[in-house]
Amino acid sequence: MAGESRKRKVGLLYDERMCKHDTPDGEDHPECPNRIKAIWEMLQRTGLAQRCVVLSGIKAEDKHLQLVHTKDHVNLVKRLSTKKKDSRRNKIASKLDSIYLNGGSSEAAYLAAGSVVEVAEKVAEGELDCGFAIVRPPGHHAEADEAMGFCLFNNVAVAASYLLNQRPDLGIKRILIVDWDVHHGNGTQKMFWKDPRVLVFSVHRHDGGSFYPRGDDGDYDKVGEGAGEGFNINVPWEQGRCGDADYFAVWDHILIPVTKEFNPDLILVSAGFDAAIGDPLGGCLVTPGGYSVMLQKLMEFAQGKIVMALEGGYRLDIVAESSVMCVQVLLEDDPFQSPVEEYTRDSTCTVIQAVRKKLCAYWPSLADEIQLKAEAPLPVKAPFPFAIFIYSKQQAERLRASLEEKAALQTKVAELQGEASEKLRLQVSLEKYAAEAKEAAEHLTQVSSELREVKIDLDFHRELFKKASEEKKLLEGELQKEASDKLRLRISRDRYAAEVKEAAEQLEKVRSELREVQIDLNLHRKLPKKAKKVK
Ligand SMILES: [Zn+2]
Repeated sequence: MAGESRKRKVGLLYDERMCKHDTPDGEDHPECPNRIKAIWEMLQRTGLAQRCVVLSGIKAEDKHLQLVHTKDHVNLVKRLSTKKKDSRRNKIASKLDSIYLNGGSSEAAYLAAGSVVEVAEKVAEGELDCGFAIVRPPGHHAEADEAMGFCLFNNVAVAASYLLNQRPDLGIKRILIVDWDVHHGNGTQKMFWKDPRVLVFSVHRHDGGSFYPRGDDGDYDKVGEGAGEGFNINVPWEQGRCGDADYFAVWDHILIPVTKEFNPDLILVSAGFDAAIGDPLGGCLVTPGGYSVMLQKLMEFAQGKIVMALEGGYRLDIVAESSVMCVQVLLEDDPFQSPVEEYTRDSTCTVIQAVRKKLCAYWPSLADEIQLKAEAPLPVKAPFPFAIFIYSKQQAERLRASLEEKAALQTKVAELQGEASEKLRLQVSLEKYAAEAKEAAEHLTQVSSELREVKIDLDFHRELFKKASEEKKLLEGELQKEASDKLRLRISRDRYAAEVKEAAEQLEKVRSELREVQIDLNLHRKLPKKAKKVK
């Protein structure tokens, strides 16, 4: 057929600016910038990127974000970049659950949401057949009014709401969201809780409500409300170590029959790869090939209009490998032949039966097979509706063992690589340290010689000071002596003046006495003459 030879237009969106969102203190964190870099590098290395339409990121518009988020929440994320200090952002982050923030967080969040919108719009328009938005921070935990679980904006929910509410002209009336991230997509669930236009399907670890994001929101009895009742499907694993066969069984016996009935116009995949084997957070065993089979099964629907958006996934090599295998499915390369001979676990059969029982009121196809189910619990080797996955237990054990061995080996390799790079780092820092030490020693020598010169100067000045102070003392003595001489002189002068004055007074007194005596004398001289005359 002519249609088959037509090359599929697969969009790939990657933008380095989304790497700017990082921990403020440079501390290691599983949700790190290298996650999207690793995917992008592997897509280029394998030549797949070159076969796709490569797009750059676009920032979301506030009015589109507000289709699912409150204005306050949008403003909070928007203003993160205007805050100059990390301490203010740290304060905001500390009030949130599992969130870190830095100066690049706002831009990255706007790009992540806007980029999923961009790819979804192009697929809805028919410009692309399907696409993969390699974005971060992830989105599915983000609630209408709150960032949480490494997520700032709910990227996938924004895109779904945008197509349904802003672009009715594109004819997208029903959207299926498949969330295969190992964590429950709590934010997405709430945003479309009452909306029958969006079927939200999430398969995730629940562990009795103890697995992140914790609580009962992810349990299978949460089916939506009002007009949206029945349009929310949760498949909760009650423990880890679920693998390809468990996921395939859920696809074949829940997701695929429901998708047939729902008949979506477009499928959005919240593609977290943290249920992958070796993931440090997920504790499950899905292989890269397993993801590609899960995607392949969805390609039958919505005319293949599928948009994948990255969510979690923290084992970088497996995340990259899984992405590559999914892009091969989008490109319609030869489908991956699953080597899985693993059997579906008893607990998986139990969950599937419970979900089907709960949902069959809304999806009649789920009721059909319920009549076929045997009494639980089923023996592993018994014929079961999922018989296709039930091979010999020995084979399955061998496969599981080899998968685990592979995971252990990969962990060991990663450890060794880490050790080697640690040694290199140590050596480099040692050399740097030695150079710094040499420089410091040279500096010390220079400083000591300067110090010696300063000391000599100091001694010289001390000597000068000593001499000067001796001279000063001498001078002071002389001055003192001079002053006391002057004082003595003045005192004797005063005394002399007083004596002179006294002498002068005495002289005057003597003179006046002398005058009187003279008068007396003259009088007595005249007396004899008078007496003669009288005679
Ligand atoms: Zn996750």
